[in-house]
Amino acid sequence: MCLVKENPYYGNKQFKQRQKTPQKNHSVTSYPPLSLDLPKPLFSPAKQPILSPLTVSSRSPSGRKSLSRQGISMPKVKTNRVKYPEGWELIEPTLRELQAKMREAENDPHDGKRKCEALWPIFKIAHQKSRYIYDLYYRRKEISKELYEFCLDQGYADKNLIAKWKKPGYERLCCLRCIQPRDHNFATTCVCRVPKHLREEKVIECVHCGCRGCASGD
Ligand SMILES: [Zn+2]
Ligand SMILES: [Zn+2]
Repeated sequence: MCLVKENPYYGNKQFKQRQKTPQKNHSVTSYPPLSLDLPKPLFSPAKQPILSPLTVSSRSPSGRKSLSRQGISMPKVKTNRVKYPEGWELIEPTLRELQAKMREAENDPHDGKRKCEALWPIFKIAHQKSRYIYDLYYRRKEISKELYEFCLDQGYADKNLIAKWKKPGYERLCCLRCIQPRDHNFATTCVCRVPKHLREEKVIECVHCGCRGCASGD
């Protein structure tokens, strides 16, 4: 089982507490920043709450290369030629923060972790970013189609993962790897895709991304 003392995916108490706290005091504009709002997290929250706007770390700016090697798309570099759709300023802080977390996760020396575990935070953050954009557009209807498509085009969310979320049975899918038959014994999918009531082991962490179960009914 897990060798790490502090299991980063265990428990979501902190998350629930955070959800209950009403969002106040965004007096700068008439719109509050659009927060992350995951209905049923597959993963427990990161140690720092996603919402806090001032925790973006600027260390380790590299990382683009090795992420793309792992098949995880990274947002394109901001240039002056890019035209930002209306509403961008409301989601930018959260996206920047998630990107900073991604860079941190990527540069983490992951001492003492199993090889597979080193990638878990990266999958988790990639999931969070896509879910953030997806929820804002499809569920909360708080961003325009233009802004949604901009985010996909710029690599802030994974189109292919989102395409799966629209299909019945895949609404909570953790990552694309967990449904690749070639990545699994006997050409099946990952253990995290098996509904909880059909699993012998009730508490699991899948080897690919650390998912603790993402079947739709779980
Ligand atoms: Zn999963
Ligand atoms: Zn997965």
